[in-house]
Amino acid sequence: MSITRQQAHALAGFIRTIRPTWDELLLTNILADQAHHELPDIAVAAIRTALDATKQNPVSIAWDGDHWPAPLRRETSQPPLTTHDRTSRRQAIDRCGMCDDSGYTAYGICHHDPDAAERGRRGAALARAALTQARTREDQPA
Ligand SMILES: [Zn+2]
Repeated sequence: MSITRQQAHALAGFIRTIRPTWDELLLTNILADQAHHELPDIAVAAIRTALDATKQNPVSIAWDGDHWPAPLRRETSQPPLTTHDRTSRRQAIDRCGMCDDSGYTAYGICHHDPDAAERGRRGAALARAALTQARTREDQPA
């Protein structure tokens, strides 16, 4: 999914809570111009740029850089598992208290990371807060 003009405007409103001096229209235009990226990547890149004190202008969002999330590795490009990989996987499953003997939880493949659920909850809470804040701003008369 890409980004709509309305989403770019809402995201610009959130980014301006971090960088109040950045022009809202310019920011909205820059975000809307990133439609060739996926929406979560645009949000991450915008937030990382806003939080980077060395970035003085929102146009930095549009540039290539490590503020953009790395593309997910494709399953087909992964080399075959070595004996060491299999041993490590077996040990991770054996040490993990969340998954079954084959490395699965009720929800899918286990990453054997007890902090993942808490990180997910924190991320979801941040996203909800950002959306609520953006909606509140839109509800206020200009
Ligand atoms: Zn596990």
